[in-house]
Amino acid sequence: MSKKAPGNTASRTGWPDVVQGLEDYLLYLRDEGVREVEADPEQVRRLSEPPVAPAPAEDATLADGLAGIAERVTACTLCPLHKSRTRTVPGQGSITPEIFFIGEGPGADEDRQGLAFVGRAGQLLTKIIEAMGLTREQVFIGNIVKCRPPGNRTPLPEEMQACLPYLREQIAILKPRVIVGLGATAVKGLLEVETGITRLRGRWMSYEGIDLMPTFHPAYLLRNPAGKREVWEDMKAVLARLGRTPPPRT
Ligand code: SF4
Repeated sequence: MSKKAPGNTASRTGWPDVVQGLEDYLLYLRDEGVREVEADPEQVRRLSEPPVAPAPAEDATLADGLAGIAERVTACTLCPLHKSRTRTVPGQGSITPEIFFIGEGPGADEDRQGLAFVGRAGQLLTKIIEAMGLTREQVFIGNIVKCRPPGNRTPLPEEMQACLPYLREQIAILKPRVIVGLGATAVKGLLEVETGITRLRGRWMSYEGIDLMPTFHPAYLLRNPAGKREVWEDMKAVLARLGRTPPPRT
């Protein structure tokens, strides 16, 4: 008679609990007369590894660094956009993201809430992230400028130049493996290229040694849904670069 060993569904940081639970289960099976169990070799290998200890001091340093930038952004008056903003939008997400999604600037919803990509375009970005098998909490989401341009106009070159040091600092702290540039303004802000997004998208670029994938902005996709197919191709390339595969489509 054989029984299946339970899968390890606990987090790596819960390793001792998992081992204890497994031991209790095996003792129970032995008492029941079971002499053989099936086990997934990969699960056994993972259980034999020491747990990955969290690095609270390092995480606190990263969080402090980001909070420090957000504080300076809140008080910033370096460009005229500060005059019309309701709230600054420094960006939010994981402090150890593999991917940093960067857009152009906050819109009306973002300006009201102080959060990046929370309006209709943000909801579409959430769907894209989830289709990649990730959550918003696992990535970082921000913009080239941290204050809303009036009427959602494109930020002016001097506004982008004034704001870019904040973004550069964020990238230096977060050290993402991949940057996704959402729309031409984001790519132009980071790399000072003038090429349109239609020609840029889908072609790997590099920012300070970090792989950068340009793709369409979700707001563009709301107006041109046909572009979703190309964005999905770009996101599959991002996942492949990270050694990930997209989950099955439901
Ligand atoms: S957009 Fe950037 S540079 Fe301009 S006021 Fe806001 S935070 Fe400062």
